[in-house]
Amino acid sequence: LQEDPEFWNDHNVQVLVRTRPVSSSEASGHCFGRCVRQDGPHTITWLGQPQTRFSFDHVAGESITQEDLFRVAGAPMVENCMRGFNSCMFAYGQTGSGKTYTMLGDIHDLGYRPSPQRGMAPRVFEYLFSRIQQEEKLRELEQLKFSCKCSFLEIHNEHITDLLNPTSTNLQIREDIKTGVYVENLKQIEVKTVHDVVQLLIQGASHRKVAATNMNSESSRSHSVFSCTVESRWQSDSLSKVRVGRLHLVDLAGSERQSSSGAEGDRLKEAANINKSLSTLGLVIMTLVDIAHGKQRHVPYRDSKLTFLLQDSLGGNSKTTIIATISPANGSALETMSTLKFAQRAK
Ligand code: ADP
Ligand code: MG
Repeated sequence: LQEDPEFWNDHNVQVLVRTRPVSSSEASGHCFGRCVRQDGPHTITWLGQPQTRFSFDHVAGESITQEDLFRVAGAPMVENCMRGFNSCMFAYGQTGSGKTYTMLGDIHDLGYRPSPQRGMAPRVFEYLFSRIQQEEKLRELEQLKFSCKCSFLEIHNEHITDLLNPTSTNLQIREDIKTGVYVENLKQIEVKTVHDVVQLLIQGASHRKVAATNMNSESSRSHSVFSCTVESRWQSDSLSKVRVGRLHLVDLAGSERQSSSGAEGDRLKEAANINKSLSTLGLVIMTLVDIAHGKQRHVPYRDSKLTFLLQDSLGGNSKTTIIATISPANGSALETMSTLKFAQRAK
C-alpha cells in the first residue's frame, strides 16, 4: 500500500478494497478455504467459478494496519478539506466485513495510550488538529484561525435521526441557495480537540440501534454519517477572508441483499429502502465517474436521503473515497463477489 501525493489524480473517485483477516470462527469451520487472493497492490482475484480478476486504486491485504490505511486514504481527505473542498469517505460491504472497524475501530482508551486499533475517524481528527496548529502558526501574520463543527446522524428506513440528540427523529433535509443542502435542526457541535471528537463518536455510536457486530442488528441496516465542517478565516489586504470545507465519514448499511421474502409491512419497506439507497449511491458514483470522463449525465441525488444529504460533497470539486470491505472466507464468497462488483462499477 503506497502513499500517493496525487492521491486522486485527475479523477475525483478513489476505490480501495480492504480484506479483513480470517476470523477464528471462520478458520475453525470444517470446510474453510479462501475466496480471494491478492495479486499485488492493485489487483485481487476472486477464486470462485469462474476465477475473476479485479483491479482497483488500492488493494489492502489482511496485514494492512489502521495507520497504513489512514496515511493512504485519510490524510489526503484532510488536506482537501483544509483547502476548502468537500470530501466523502464510504465504507461499503457485507455485515461483519470490517466497515465499523475501518471507520471507527477501537475508539475507547484514546486519551492516555491511544489504541493502535483506532480507525479512520479518530486518526482523521488527530491529523486535522495537528495540521491546523501548524497552519495557524505558519500564517500568524494573517491571523489565520480555523474552527470545526461536527454532527453525527443515522439514516434508517429513509428516516434521519440525530445520533447526538436521539430524541430528534425524522429530521428533514432542506436546501438553501446560500448554504446549500442541510439537515434541519441537526445538532452541530464545536470541537477543539481529538478528545472532543472522540466523545461525540462514542456518544453517537452508543445511540446506533444495537451493538455493531450482531449480524441481525439494526445498525447493520442503517447508514451512519459523521460530518465535520472546517472553516478558516484570515486577513488579506485588510479584507476578511473565509473558506469552508466539509468532510463526511459514512459507515453504510450492510450490503448483503436484504431479502424481502417472507417480510411484511415495515420489514418489507425497510428491505426495499436499504437496497434502494445502496443502489442509488452506486448509481450516483457511477454517473459522477462518467461526468469526470466528459459525459453529460443527470445525477440522481434525490433518489435517496443519503445521496441528497451529501449532494454538495459528491461531484463537482469534491473528492470521494470508497473503502470496500470484504471477508476472505469461502463462506462469504458470493457476498465478497458482489462487493467487488460494486467497487468495480464505482471506478
Ligand atoms: P461491519 O461493521 O462491517 O459489520 P465490523 O467492523 O464490526 O464489521 O467487523 C467485524 C469483526 O471483525 C469485528 O470483531 C472486528 O473487530 C473484526 N475486524 C474487521 N476488520 C478487521 C481488520 N482489518 N483487522 C482485525 N479485525 C478486524
Ligand atoms: Mg458495523
